[in-house]
Amino acid sequence: MESPTERSYAQALDRDDPLRSYRNEFLFPRQRTGQPVVYFTGNSLGLQPVETRRYVLRELDKWGSMGVEGHFESPAPWYSYHELFAAPMANIVGAQPHEVAVMNSLTTNLHLLMVSFYRPDSKRYKIVIEKGAFPSDRYAVASQAHFHGFDPKDAVIELAPRDGEATLRNEDIVATLEAEGDSIALVMMAGVNYYTGQVFPMKEITEVAHKLGITVGFDLAHAAGNIPMQLHDWDVDFAAWCTYKYLNSGPGGVAGIFVHDRHKFAPDRPRFSGWWGNDPSTRFSMPDAFVPQEGAGGWQLSNAPILPMASLRASLDLFEQAGFDALQSKSQKLHSYLRTLVAKIPNIPFEPLTPSEEERHGCQLSIRQPDPNQANDMANFLRERGIISDVRNDVIRIAPVPLYNSFEDVWYFYDTLREFCERQ
Ligand SMILES: *Cc1c(COP(=O)(O)O)cnc(C)c1O
Repeated sequence: MESPTERSYAQALDRDDPLRSYRNEFLFPRQRTGQPVVYFTGNSLGLQPVETRRYVLRELDKWGSMGVEGHFESPAPWYSYHELFAAPMANIVGAQPHEVAVMNSLTTNLHLLMVSFYRPDSKRYKIVIEKGAFPSDRYAVASQAHFHGFDPKDAVIELAPRDGEATLRNEDIVATLEAEGDSIALVMMAGVNYYTGQVFPMKEITEVAHKLGITVGFDLAHAAGNIPMQLHDWDVDFAAWCTYKYLNSGPGGVAGIFVHDRHKFAPDRPRFSGWWGNDPSTRFSMPDAFVPQEGAGGWQLSNAPILPMASLRASLDLFEQAGFDALQSKSQKLHSYLRTLVAKIPNIPFEPLTPSEEERHGCQLSIRQPDPNQANDMANFLRERGIISDVRNDVIRIAPVPLYNSFEDVWYFYDTLREFCERQ
């Protein structure tokens, strides 16, 4: 058997990969040489599917040739265009179709959902988030607490790893929830931390929180399209995610929400409403009083942004074709191959921050590198050799995406990093 550090080993893995042809369904930025780059930042902005242009052009052409009549013209009339996402998006997060809606952008949706699901009173008002959460999420929860008259310093509990550790232990999450249970109104944390790549135990957190009377929402920006989830079965109250990362919808793409079936009849639950969330059967009779449609769709505000939605459809169709199980299986293999190779770089103590257990990581591997002063040199070295990755201070984040990355990409990253280290 050849060694994993040989290029031919990676090439053999690619030959055995049933998803290898999906790479051809994506557009890769080019290097100066004309060669495609090796792209490892699908956790930040997914690549453009080749078909996206056609999906978007179809809607532009419809607009050009029909004007307002495009709202009702088949196929895919704009009036009901958002409904096309119910089934494929439900598959991505493990939901029933009426539990998901595609609308707005991520941070907007976090706020809209917290308006409905963060209902603090003087005793139970705290929000739990992970320390080192994405800044927008920290700003969102702090501003929600403030909006309700609480001091975020007191109202926001940050779950921190133990000293000397990079990621949270499940038992520490549970212990905090149990210790502060009566005062916590909401858990609002990521499903996958954007920096460490750690997958949080969403099912267990939800179970423990619900026993304590706490509402649970997750930000799935780094989870949607990356890891398998069963939001409905896990009984999660609500969730929100963007689609331009692993779901390849393009910069600033339209976002997704989940609201559990349990909350589908909730006429009395406070929410900020708009006509698109009204019951479709009376939407155009424009009743005086808002009658929410059942399910996540009731949180929609405005008529659907068709162009970014067309772009999202192009990518979701690829997910449906490839199949989530196959993607998962390849994702795990790419990740463990990357981990194996990085550990083989001689004499350099690269330390993975991302947990190694299969259920605690997605495709991303975050690696602490020993010398933060080298970050710029390392980033330039990789970039000059055609690798797009995220090197910041002492951490390199690499996300091999099963739809368009190959085992040879992973090998090439290893070999380039090894060469950089040898030159130091
Ligand atoms: C990417 C990301 C965001 C970005 O929010 P936008 O509203 O889409 O700009 C927010 N939160 C998390 C956790 C993210 O990973």
